[in-house]
Amino acid sequence: MGKDKEVVVPGEKLAVIEEYLPRENVYVNVDFILSKIIGTIFRDNEKKEISVRRIKELSLPKVRDIIYGVVTSIRDPIAYVDIIYIENRNKIFLNPFDSFLHANNVSSMYVRSLYDAIGYGDIIRAYIVDGYNPPYELSIKGREFGVVYARCPLCMRPLRRKGYELFCSKCRKKFKRKISTYYFLK
Ligand SMILES: [Zn+2]
Repeated sequence: MGKDKEVVVPGEKLAVIEEYLPRENVYVNVDFILSKIIGTIFRDNEKKEISVRRIKELSLPKVRDIIYGVVTSIRDPIAYVDIIYIENRNKIFLNPFDSFLHANNVSSMYVRSLYDAIGYGDIIRAYIVDGYNPPYELSIKGREFGVVYARCPLCMRPLRRKGYELFCSKCRKKFKRKISTYYFLK
């Protein structure tokens, strides 16, 4: 997520099993060590151990905060999003805050349906445009905002970015999204 701090999401590959011993908040799948949680990577290169540390849970989201959230439902023209992380203050919420995204706040161009921009279960990078209490109103206007992580609805594999679309290498299918320049997997 961040460029300087190594923030990882659930299911993200951290290392191959030959490199490190898995410790807190990670799991092994075939040859890889993956993160169980959203947090920051901690590597102990002497002991050859890798773990993920939770980010501190503190205070409330505010207008203009840049957030990461999970799309929990879509009912055009509104999507509901669980805010799990505030990037600019490095705060994670174990009990997510409710927020919503209206189709008018997706792009400077007209968006007919939210289904052309986001999908159920996607993680989006957004900013708060309104609200002093939940539910907060979000926007994903701007190149840096939009979907940063999505799974294939058919096989649940993480999708990779291919140009302006997301792609499942197993199902050989493309999916339309409003993709952030911060998208994780290329
Ligand atoms: Zn698939």
